[in-house]
Amino acid sequence: MNVRAKNQPQLSSTPNHANATSAFSASNIERIRADFPILQRSIHGKPLVYLDNAASSQMPQQVIDRLAHYQTHEHANIHRGVHTLSQNATTEYENARLKVMNFIGAKESREIIFTHGTTEGINLVMHGYGRRFIGEGDEIIISAMEHHSNIVPWQMLCEEKKARLRIIPMNDAGELLLDEYAKLFNKNTKFVALTHVSNALGTINPVREMIATAHQYGAPVLLDGAQAAPHMAVNVQDLDCDFYVFSSHKMCGPTGVGILYGKAALLEKMQPYQGGGDMILNVTFERTTYNDIPHKFEAGTPAIAAGIGLGAAIDYITAIGLENIAAHEQALLEYASEAARSIPGLKIIGTAQHKAAVLSFILDDIHPHDIGTLLDQEGIAVRAGHHCAQPVMQRFGIPATARASFAFYNTFEEVDALIAGIHTVKKVFA
Ligand code: PMP
Repeated sequence: MNVRAKNQPQLSSTPNHANATSAFSASNIERIRADFPILQRSIHGKPLVYLDNAASSQMPQQVIDRLAHYQTHEHANIHRGVHTLSQNATTEYENARLKVMNFIGAKESREIIFTHGTTEGINLVMHGYGRRFIGEGDEIIISAMEHHSNIVPWQMLCEEKKARLRIIPMNDAGELLLDEYAKLFNKNTKFVALTHVSNALGTINPVREMIATAHQYGAPVLLDGAQAAPHMAVNVQDLDCDFYVFSSHKMCGPTGVGILYGKAALLEKMQPYQGGGDMILNVTFERTTYNDIPHKFEAGTPAIAAGIGLGAAIDYITAIGLENIAAHEQALLEYASEAARSIPGLKIIGTAQHKAAVLSFILDDIHPHDIGTLLDQEGIAVRAGHHCAQPVMQRFGIPATARASFAFYNTFEEVDALIAGIHTVKKVFA
């Protein structure tokens, strides 16, 4: 993929984005977009402008083909079969695990556990680690910008164990207050669960430094990487996180599958999450011995096709390059933010210095659901609501935001369409 230097010719000559620069050449972005059949669709007679990537991204033909090929030629249950189809399906599924391992820089493939998604990964750690090692009077630190799936499981644990949840506050830009974070630690701190990138605000947290602080107090750290893994190069060994979770459907893969990375030494100490087939070595009515990691945490038949599809999605993303993806999305974000700031009555929620390509905003006193519905009439898909982060909305004193979230297949022309759409919304409510 060509990486284009600043000040080189632009993606398109339309005047609105004459000064914007991209990591992709015009032909590259056209080729990328041609891989995604759904991007050719019209909605309400207008070309689809898909800006809801933080909720779920779209799937390229290469991944669709891989799923179809698996279902057409390769399907069988894995791990237990002696016949050829079962052995081949097992090989493909385990190859996908290796791809994930390389994708996030894990040391060993047994540190990669297939889950249903980010939410299940967090619940697995809450159950497997939290229920075993956290007790009365212990403290768990989370941040003020967590998704509900990184709040509720820890709340449930605290209620059950009489432990205490401590919250890292943030400033008006949506940046965590690191001094306050450091002050939260004491001898009772037993765990930290933190989002790498906020889905509601776009903030990229300085997780490497925050992990180092937690480790000084002996507390393991779980990173919620749902919004990071699709958009930036992640290396779990470099970050030194103890757990990392993310979802396939936000990174061009199928729904129904996600990943929990855990350091082998911790995973080995943890209790299983669910009991059933595949997670056992031996079962009698008196006693069961558990399988080794990762299988100890993978009870029952998994989403085999989806796991293999995730492997294909990783191949696809890796071929484009996370650095190129991040650079293109940053260019879109900068361009969109500048344009949005010039719209009277529009307020961007989440203005951190380090941000991923999420543009959350409110507009005059128009309800975000009305913004979303009117933009849909223009073919533009954005999300409106609390984004499963109600405490973030409470912090900013608002019920909801409208949120445009970008992927590497979005264009400056689509940002122009969004901005034009917002002007249309304003006119309707004028
Ligand atoms: N955490 C974050 C930061 C998210 O953005 C999301 C999805 N919106 C989740 C967790 C939950 O992911 P899933 O629904 O795939 O389990």
